[in-house]
Amino acid sequence: MENSLQAPLTPATTISPRRDRFTRRGFLEIGATALAMAGIAPALRAAGAENSDRSRSTPGPRNPALDSENTDAAFPPVTDAGGYPTFKYPFAFANKRLHDGGWSREVTVRELPVAKAMAGVNMRLTAGGVRELHWHTAGEWAIMLYGTARITGIDMDGRSFVSDVKKYDLWYFPSGMPHSIQGLGPDGAEFLLVFDDGTFSEFGTVLLSDTMRHTPSEVIAKNFNLPEASFKDLPQRELFIFQAEVPGALGPDQNAAAGTSGASRQDFAFRTMALPVAKRTKGGEVRIVDSSAFKVSTTIAMAMVTVRPGGLRELHWHPNSDEWQYFISGTGRMTVMASGSRSRTMDFQAGDVGYVEKTLGHYVENTGDTDLVFLEMFRSASYQDFSLSEWLAHTPPELVMAHLHIDRATYDAISKEKPVITPA
Ligand code: MN
Ligand code: MN
Repeated sequence: MENSLQAPLTPATTISPRRDRFTRRGFLEIGATALAMAGIAPALRAAGAENSDRSRSTPGPRNPALDSENTDAAFPPVTDAGGYPTFKYPFAFANKRLHDGGWSREVTVRELPVAKAMAGVNMRLTAGGVRELHWHTAGEWAIMLYGTARITGIDMDGRSFVSDVKKYDLWYFPSGMPHSIQGLGPDGAEFLLVFDDGTFSEFGTVLLSDTMRHTPSEVIAKNFNLPEASFKDLPQRELFIFQAEVPGALGPDQNAAAGTSGASRQDFAFRTMALPVAKRTKGGEVRIVDSSAFKVSTTIAMAMVTVRPGGLRELHWHPNSDEWQYFISGTGRMTVMASGSRSRTMDFQAGDVGYVEKTLGHYVENTGDTDLVFLEMFRSASYQDFSLSEWLAHTPPELVMAHLHIDRATYDAISKEKPVITPA
């Protein structure tokens, strides 16, 4: 050890392509200790010296907190080949747009250049906080992450839709459909919006307040057949998010909005947890919600994946869409295998966005001690995937054995149907 600063920079055990999670944890502990004892390297030297690797050390400036969350960047596995763009962006990096009544922050193709097909917004509304009446070009899919909210809209027949949503409930508003969201008691809501266009920005929405204040007042009066004076107090700036009173009971709001036209026959909300789990194994479970169950959601499909500690969302790819990911809880890592021998492995925490381009192979491994829960989002009416193991198990054995140099017993042990999450 030439330099005492190298000690905390070295993993506890030699990195191998098949590190188990306990090896990772060993490194993470050293990283955390290094954080706490920055500059007190000699005490740590013993821990790391045994298997030190000068070639992997980072003696110059570094960010120990980020390194400890991104061990596959600090110590890339030997399977990494580089040349592939970054596919992670934490919402924690995004600009938080603060309002009285809540906040919003977005991850679009501007933040994450590889994410061309979809964009996301994370939004918080206080109890009574309103995301103002608006519409936009992109279709809007959403999942509630916390609390309760009331959503409103009207369909193409002019019939109203008013519903209350709770954790993991979804909604979908097609392109151009006007809508609003309001936090309910006791503590409002937080939710994730996913748009079917990577360039779509929350700054690109058409707002009721903007629409009214940019229309000549005599035209407003003529439009509603009311005196100009009735609209003399219109807000003179956009509202976007604003604080209002917590609304009353759902029923009266629904009836008032429906009037004599009646309520919409379409359901723009979906109760995720009421749908049976699509696949459950020892390693975890998957809920799939696409337009086969959630009829109105014709441009966005979701898989909600839970991977138990030690489990793996198996190697697979999607033939019909890019995948936009959102990590809800736990920690994981993903490798994206691209064409031209490019590949990269990255680590993910709650609140991160991940991305996989259409048809590129990937897996997601739980690297922590708690359940890993994340969303796979697709710009498609339907969920589709190919499983590596299912493909190999349904290809002539001699052909597969000639490729992989495996014996017959190994071939025979490959699962004949997609496990989705291992261990199956
Ligand atoms: Mn919207
Ligand atoms: Mn996937």
